[in-house]
Amino acid sequence: MAEPLLSVRGLCVDYLGPQGPVRALDGVSFELRAGEVLGVAGESGSGKSTLAQALLRILPAPGVITGGEVRFEGRDLLRLDEAALREVRWQRISMVFQSAMDSLNPVLTVGAQLADTLRAHRRVSGREARQRSAALLELVGIPADRLGAFPHQLSGGMRQRVGIAVALALEPRLVILDEPTTALDVIVEREILQRLLELRRRLGFAVVFITHDLARMLQISDRVAVFYAAQLVELGPAAALRAEARHPYTRALLSAFPSVHGPPGERTGIPGAPPSLLHPPDGCRFHPRCPLAEDACRSGEPPRLAALG
Ligand code: ATP
Ligand code: MG
Repeated sequence: MAEPLLSVRGLCVDYLGPQGPVRALDGVSFELRAGEVLGVAGESGSGKSTLAQALLRILPAPGVITGGEVRFEGRDLLRLDEAALREVRWQRISMVFQSAMDSLNPVLTVGAQLADTLRAHRRVSGREARQRSAALLELVGIPADRLGAFPHQLSGGMRQRVGIAVALALEPRLVILDEPTTALDVIVEREILQRLLELRRRLGFAVVFITHDLARMLQISDRVAVFYAAQLVELGPAAALRAEARHPYTRALLSAFPSVHGPPGERTGIPGAPPSLLHPPDGCRFHPRCPLAEDACRSGEPPRLAALG
């Protein structure tokens, strides 16, 4: 079998706080194939953004990667020096942040930002950069005559699409989206995601897609990774997870959201709160909130999960 595009093994990240290290990613392992869409789900604080930032090695202090391996196109990103890493960042792996306001420069026009991205990494003339910038804008459904607009002159949805255009400018093989549409209304969200998936079909990049919207995630992902308290607790094809999730946390998470196809249900939510990562519980970290917890779950892997192999 061909080597996966991305292979993450035992990835650990700690935030070095005054009360001691907070392990925000604990031994995370998964693979991603070329062109695949991986959804990342989990409650607030479960480590989703930490994962996105660790993959690109853009963790803000005091976050540090304390273990593991991130192989991308055959190289361990954790062992690359800064110069080699710069070649990977944005060119091979790019990222769209939750708020494009955070990633776009407020004093540069949209066209200047796209052109700067292109010229920083590619030998193109000013004219070529302008032409390509116009094409990129049109790719995400914005008329090229908006090249001269400043970010504040665009709507939230347009800004987010500009963020996607910047992320696609260098034709990366992997695009990481961290809640790219959370701030938008559902119609704009649907339009942006449809366009992104259409582009993926045409350009063939893989996607890591982080969102709180589990229904939407199940719709658009090939596979879904579920995080709970810094650990990856379940990973499987979206269809299989929807039909029969193995981990009680995944089931709780799924039943906490209305189904896409079924009748509009009530959002039940999961009673209780995730544990403190300073002192996570032993055994299965979900056991204090789990309706199915048995004694064995307090010290080790839940027997019913172990039995499934
Ligand atoms: P959300 O859905 O709210 O965006 P998330 O799953 O993206 O949450 P992360 O932002 O990855 O969660 O945070 C994971 C954990 O790491 C959190 O529980 C938080 O306590 C801790 N953490 C994140 N950033 C820092 C920081 N700068 N300093 C200390 N701890 C941090
Ligand atoms: Mg986050």
